Amino acid sequence: MAVPRRGASAGAGHEWCGSRLTVTDLLLVGAGHTHLYVVRRAAQLAAAGYRVHLLAPRFFDYSGVASATAAGSLPGDAGRIDVRALAGSSGVHFHEDTLASLDPDQRVAVTSTGARIPYDLLSLNLGSVVAAVGLRAHERVLRVKPLSGLADLDARIRAAGRPGATVTIVGGGASGLELAAHLSTRSDVARVHVVESGSVIGADLPAGARRRMGRLLAARGVLVHAGCVVHDLAERHVVCDDGLALSHDVALLATGLVAPPLLVELGLGDERGVPVRGTLQHVDRDEIYAVGDCAHFLPRPLPRIGVHGVRQGPVLHRSLLARARGGEVPVYEPQDRALSILDLGDGVGLAVRGRWWWFGTGPLRLKRYIDRQWLRTYRSSTRARAGDAS
Ligand SMILES: Cc1cc2nc3c(=O)[nH]c(=O)nc-3n(C[C@H](O)[C@H](O)[C@H](O)COP(=O)(O)OP(=O)(O)OC[C@H]3O[C@@H](n4cnc5c(N)ncnc54)[C@H](O)[C@@H]3O)c2cc1C
Repeated sequence: MAVPRRGASAGAGHEWCGSRLTVTDLLLVGAGHTHLYVVRRAAQLAAAGYRVHLLAPRFFDYSGVASATAAGSLPGDAGRIDVRALAGSSGVHFHEDTLASLDPDQRVAVTSTGARIPYDLLSLNLGSVVAAVGLRAHERVLRVKPLSGLADLDARIRAAGRPGATVTIVGGGASGLELAAHLSTRSDVARVHVVESGSVIGADLPAGARRRMGRLLAARGVLVHAGCVVHDLAERHVVCDDGLALSHDVALLATGLVAPPLLVELGLGDERGVPVRGTLQHVDRDEIYAVGDCAHFLPRPLPRIGVHGVRQGPVLHRSLLARARGGEVPVYEPQDRALSILDLGDGVGLAVRGRWWWFGTGPLRLKRYIDRQWLRTYRSSTRARAGDAS
């Protein structure tokens, strides 16, 4: 009888040694966009000799609808994927936990509950956290990433009571502006402040789109304070270095995204991420892959947007198959200009691609369509097992 054993050399794929089948243990850590793609196609990996493990929390929350769900415009579970059910329906060994440490020489991952998971190949898709360099923020300040940081936003606004909550958002980039626009449409939000250290908000937007955004926020009563540098963000107030003082019921930190600090503890990277080559493999370790926001793509800097994680899915999957079966190893070739669509609440959106932009109800309809299609892919795979996933 053939007995599966772990691969002696990582990446060897399966091979017959007499009557013994060598199995390569592939450990996927984090159920981000890229890994969801790979998990859904795990049967092909199993056929190529992989035993696929996924170490991740039970649920994945999709950032495309995060502002809308956090602000209460869409139901809280509108972007939720049941990762355990997806893994179960794909034949993947699911470890409901998070990665705490790693022994890269022994090739063992240790989880937050102390479980040890040996691997031959490791892939990291851990997302990102808010960058708060040079800024102290009170623990009650809500962080926009990881998205779990937004879970309390709706309740905190409701708790403020009459005459409505005052919200300060520090950071005038895409996520800060999206949240400001959404919150300004709520009847229980009395005032929204956006505090931005740069001279303008939406610095990455084309000039026309930036002006359109400014008019929208002004029309909704959002107060924008550009050129204000914050060093200390307290639970109930903030003082900028130009002397501007604001008080608030709720503060949100949206000062850009960096890779999780865990990577430094693991010795695998820094706040830019795990350094990877075009093949998505660690610069010095062929058996370690990193994808999405937690990767530092060495061929060129990439913005931390979901589209890269989505597009890296097929590359990682093909790469793993090529590793097992032989063949050309693919490289990730990012688009020069990716389409991004901000959901600005009240039925309107702003689509941007390079210098092209489009504001109105059309962009939001397009965004909802794209988001629905993507979410449906991962939800329909699990529907058959929804009964036993609860
Ligand atoms: C408010 C907001 C709105 C956004 N809207 C958009 C948008 O509309 N379009 C867009 O392209 N980008 C958007 N972004 C950016 C987007 O969130 C990221 O670029 C994208 O989520 C990155 O995808 P990822 O697959 O790398 O990681 P993620 O989607 O963050 O997934 C990482 C997963 O890893 C898990 N994880 C983390 N740590 C561990 C651990 N130690 N062990 C195991 N698992 C772990 C997490 O639970 C998570 O499920 C938005 C960001 C924010 C903050």
